[in-house]
Amino acid sequence: MRILSGIQPSGPLHIGNYLGAIQQYITLQGENDAYYFVADYHALTSVRDAATLRRYVFDVLADLLALGLDPEKSVLFVQSDVPETVELSWLLTSVTPMGWLEKCVSYKDKVQQGIPAEHGLFAYPVLQAADILLYDADLVPVGQDQKQHLEITRDVAERFNHVYGGKSEVFRLPNPYILDNVAVIPGLDGRKMSKSYSNTIEIFDEPGAIRKKVKKFVTDSTPIEAPKDPDACPLFGLFKLFAAPEDRDEVERRYREGGIGYGEVKTRLGEAIVARFAEARERRAELVAHPERVAEVRAAGAEKARATARKVLERARAACGLG
Ligand code: ATP
Ligand code: MG
Repeated sequence: MRILSGIQPSGPLHIGNYLGAIQQYITLQGENDAYYFVADYHALTSVRDAATLRRYVFDVLADLLALGLDPEKSVLFVQSDVPETVELSWLLTSVTPMGWLEKCVSYKDKVQQGIPAEHGLFAYPVLQAADILLYDADLVPVGQDQKQHLEITRDVAERFNHVYGGKSEVFRLPNPYILDNVAVIPGLDGRKMSKSYSNTIEIFDEPGAIRKKVKKFVTDSTPIEAPKDPDACPLFGLFKLFAAPEDRDEVERRYREGGIGYGEVKTRLGEAIVARFAEARERRAELVAHPERVAEVRAAGAEKARATARKVLERARAACGLG
């Protein structure tokens, strides 16, 4: 199967990105034909400084490699190293009804959070459709927030196939791959954890900073001695994703019995997060000390991705009468 997914270099990666997406990237590589990219065209809607964007792109590449993405098993590349993406995006834009984009929740959410309502943000799902269709993807591992965009990708592909395809199909229809237990990781303030909401726990923050941030996680005011429902507690929801099974069972039992405070859970969660990423932190430091290794992976990935993209773009151009 062809797997494809991307992450925006719009800020430091957080545990929501890791649990909701990156972990699945890693399990799906190897057995499948996987393509993963740093979505720098997408980040142009939020990062407006060239040096910052370049740094974030490097950081996401280094983060992914440190976390276990293996360039021998998957193609790791940067979106703008494949400019074919933008041409396909225009072909798709030309068959996308405005109404489909107007109903997108993610756009409306971001505008409501005060992010400027620019055309790039509005048209984001079409660029995303181009990213996915350009690689003939079968399966797209993402968080729940991307489900609607995946539906639009399928709709746009079907529409293009219908308008131009005749009997032969131009684009393959992709399916989302969303795991229920990690579909929406909550941020410190209870909203979806998002780079653009300043509510994140960053994967590669200093251990001290991680411990401190976790302390800010919003909880209700149930007293320590009162029994609590672990299934209704977002803090426990996160704890159980990081804790060893015996710690998880112990904390769950004490929730139900009463006698555990949120402070203790936060402290233990902080430790568990720091421990989970300890090895990756060392690998990351190595890569930062040797940026040429990251540059090599990027160049090799661009070449492979571009070869695949060119073939699909040619198919699309031919179908609609360009060239
Ligand atoms: P931005 O705020 O700039 O949109 P983001 O934090 O939402 O950044 P993206 O780069 O948009 O991160 O998303 C990368 C991947 O991580 C996507 O597959 C997305 O669905 C997933 N993801 C992002 N946030 C979460 C979350 N809180 N829970 C689960 N998955 C998430
Ligand atoms: Mg996002």
